[in-house]
Amino acid sequence: MEAAELVDRVVAGERRALARLLTYVEDGTPARLRAAVAGLHGRSGRAALVGVTGSPGVGKSTLSNALVTEWRRRGRTVAVLAIDPTSPFSGGALLGDRVRMQDHVLDDAVYVRSMASRGHLGGLSWAAPQALTVLDAAGFDVVLVETVGVGQAEVEIASLADTTVVALAPGMGDAIQAAKAGILEIADVYCVNKADREGADRTVRELRDMQALGHGEWLAPILKTVAATGDGVAELADAIDRHRDWLSTSGVLDDRRLARARRQVADIALETIRRRVAGLGEGAALDDLARQVAARQLDPYAAADVLLATIDTA
Ligand code: GDP
Repeated sequence: MEAAELVDRVVAGERRALARLLTYVEDGTPARLRAAVAGLHGRSGRAALVGVTGSPGVGKSTLSNALVTEWRRRGRTVAVLAIDPTSPFSGGALLGDRVRMQDHVLDDAVYVRSMASRGHLGGLSWAAPQALTVLDAAGFDVVLVETVGVGQAEVEIASLADTTVVALAPGMGDAIQAAKAGILEIADVYCVNKADREGADRTVRELRDMQALGHGEWLAPILKTVAATGDGVAELADAIDRHRDWLSTSGVLDDRRLARARRQVADIALETIRRRVAGLGEGAALDDLARQVAARQLDPYAAADVLLATIDTA
């Protein structure tokens, strides 16, 4: 299928076209992806991008499912992008999609897609923004990105969202661990899930104490939820809406979008250079330069300049 036709179908709401396009994103199929993103970019920018992150087991999947239910109740269409840090294959995550959102499998207004954070070209920092552009342009009101908050990669991914919800559960000094992992710095809204368990109020207090250390203009609200029953989820959805309103009225949304665009352009440029250098690595030009460097006829910086000059004219 031609990229233009694929774009039209995605915009028209055709799910199979959407799935195919997201596979291009995941596989990093550059030529097709490039044409598709060119067609879709101008139609994106309308969706509310919401990130949900937190340690394994705090209840992110359950919470995402409950948030989707709440948003559907409010008449919004939702796409969920679940970043799976463990699975090297997207095929393996496919079954997960069904299990993950079992309440919404029959709902056409909900689209769920998993993406492995390993095992494809370019890495996730390159793929995730493109996937968000695709889902945004496909016309969903809300795009939820669910990530496991265990490392820098996840913090980076969370920075793609307009509003980042950091989910925690009571016990085991989770708030302090999250602080150490740098996750609290990215929180726009805190969600202490499993509030039916002992210690939820203590976790809320710990968070509040840490917040006293100083924050920007927006003081991240701390919500308690029981994702398993849906308790507190409407209030969480309200808090997310309030944050989005604040983003718009304060101008911070524009700042974030600018920062994101800057990163995205730089990432694509770096990835393009990386691919072209890798391509040259298979050719005679690099062999020749390597010989000159090894023979001490050329220093490696000068050789790299020569290589980069080849790319410029490529
Ligand atoms: P994830 O790894 O963060 O995505 O966590 P899951 O959503 O898979 O949830 C982990 C476990 O916690 C599952 O067994 C859920 O049923 C359970 N769980 C999720 N939310 C709640 C809650 O609010 N209260 C209780 N008691 N259990 C919950």
